[in-house]
Amino acid sequence: MARVILAEDDEAISEPLARALRRDGHEVAVVSSGTQALEIATAGVADLMVIDLGLPGMDGLEVIRSLREQGSKLPIIVVTARTSDLDFVVGLDAGADDYVGKPFRIDVLLARVRALVRRGSSPATIRVGELVIESAARRVRIGEDEVNLTPKEYDVLLLLSQNVGRVMSREQIMKEIWRGEWFGGSKTLDMHVSGLRRKLADVGHGREPTIGTVRGVGFRLEDEPAPASSGA
Ligand code: CA
Repeated sequence: MARVILAEDDEAISEPLARALRRDGHEVAVVSSGTQALEIATAGVADLMVIDLGLPGMDGLEVIRSLREQGSKLPIIVVTARTSDLDFVVGLDAGADDYVGKPFRIDVLLARVRALVRRGSSPATIRVGELVIESAARRVRIGEDEVNLTPKEYDVLLLLSQNVGRVMSREQIMKEIWRGEWFGGSKTLDMHVSGLRRKLADVGHGREPTIGTVRGVGFRLEDEPAPASSGA
């Protein structure tokens, strides 16, 4: 199914996990240091990486940051025992797509992997005002200016764009994007949406469509730029 890099220095975790991933049909390359993880991920042949944050050589977060700095869009799932909120935010900021806290059930992680692998590409180019989404290339532009989004931000934007003017409830979004494999609160969604708004605004300078919050329900992409207050 997918070529997965598993970066984990604890064999008690990596061995059963690699076995389970292979049983699930994936090709798995296990590495036990951050430096190896970066090297193999940079080679560009993997479809997905599962990475522990506490790795010898180079911290998992450094690996992710460095990959994103190189422009890599490799989907990344962070696995870590550091489950504090701070680490959560830091992991997503660094460019991870998903997060699983230790200890985790292997079937939960497998489901997250499948969700990221399945993450679909719809064929069309979607235009919402000045916003252009080229889904084959997973590229987002406002006018001619490219917007660099994390894979999850992209997924949220794509979903909202496919439903312009309609309110998408938090539940719908999480079900679609996280495919029901969601065990946390909706804080992650809020972080992705605010990241998305910021990035769109940074590039769009007012040309970007607005992602409005519908209080108590969810989000809606407006097909034209709206006053800043509507996004509150
Ligand atoms: Ca570790």
